[in-house]
Amino acid sequence: PHQDRKLGIAILGLGGYASGQIAPALQLTEHCELRGLITGSPEKLPEWQRKYNIKEENSYTYDTMDEIADNDEIDVVYVITPTATHRDFTVRAANTGKHVWCEKPMAMTPEECQEMIDACNRNGVKLAIGYRMMHEPNTRKLIELTKEKAYGPLTGAHAYAGYAGSPPPADYWRGQRDMGGGALYDMGVYSVNGLAYGTQLQPVAVVKAGQRRQDRPNGVDLTTTYTLRYPDGMTAEGKTSVVEDYNELHIEAENGWYEMDPMQPYTGVKGSTSDGKVLGPPVPNQQSIQMDDDALAILNGTELIAPGTLAQKDIRVIRAIIESAETGKEVKI
Ligand code: NDP
Repeated sequence: PHQDRKLGIAILGLGGYASGQIAPALQLTEHCELRGLITGSPEKLPEWQRKYNIKEENSYTYDTMDEIADNDEIDVVYVITPTATHRDFTVRAANTGKHVWCEKPMAMTPEECQEMIDACNRNGVKLAIGYRMMHEPNTRKLIELTKEKAYGPLTGAHAYAGYAGSPPPADYWRGQRDMGGGALYDMGVYSVNGLAYGTQLQPVAVVKAGQRRQDRPNGVDLTTTYTLRYPDGMTAEGKTSVVEDYNELHIEAENGWYEMDPMQPYTGVKGSTSDGKVLGPPVPNQQSIQMDDDALAILNGTELIAPGTLAQKDIRVIRAIIESAETGKEVKI
């Protein structure tokens, strides 16, 4: 770590989320500094270098990125690429001895997640997943209500995460099943993760699930619905879509309910309770809070809010939802 106690962050994958959200949010952090770039499209570098004052020697391609091992200015590699590439990029970044932040969903399968976890453990580095909602202060108040059993034992829950977009095209990774496109991985992970933090329970089975898929080879699910069951028999409903609009996380307890509505936009998430409490106020920038939390966990050697081991559980649920949709049967998790 540097004397100024700011971690040097290198962004890997200069796409939409990196340029639209993460790079600007890094400018708002206290404990991070954007110092490096890693890309498969070197033609993107000059503009990024100019805009964020990045040195040429801190700029890498996917062919040269292993050299980052010798760069003391970089502490963290933040992987922001298509989901099916998260495993390989994370393992490579961990092998350079840098801490790794990786975007959601963590990877395609729990086995891939395990390889990422193992690589980070082997190299003695931390692995944080970009679950921005788990850092968001309103959402954290909702989590506290569950932990305190503020409204008594839970009786049910639902999580809906969708947006009314156009079906993703076949020539873009979001429209390709084998790249991790589709509603369930891209948006459904918010519903699965929302149910996990909202209930503080892990489901034991997918009772049933359904998917509406694009009718073409490698086509993705446009909408997925599912029912989870928990150890005490409680069930929860989830749905997710890239062509339908809905966005809420609702928790039912014996003595009332509480919810986030909407649950996961970049700004304006709003929490409320059955007895009229408002969880707000909304925060200006979620991603900067997320990255400062993760930087402090590294600087202070404390626990991450969303480590790889936590996100792996959600990928296990996602795989069980897919299996249940494909077989029409209940699937144990
Ligand atoms: P984009 O398609 O906009 O960008 C992805 C970038 O990944 C590309 O520009 C490219 O950057 C790099 N890349 C590396 N390998 C490949 C490959 N094989 N095919 C295509 N691109 C590749 O995607 P997003 O930025 O929207 O999403 C990236 C990740 O971030 C996903 O995992 C997504 O789920 C997550 N995300 C998270 C959000 C959140 O709120 N937490 C919001 C949006 C996305 P380069 O040209 O530099 O190599």
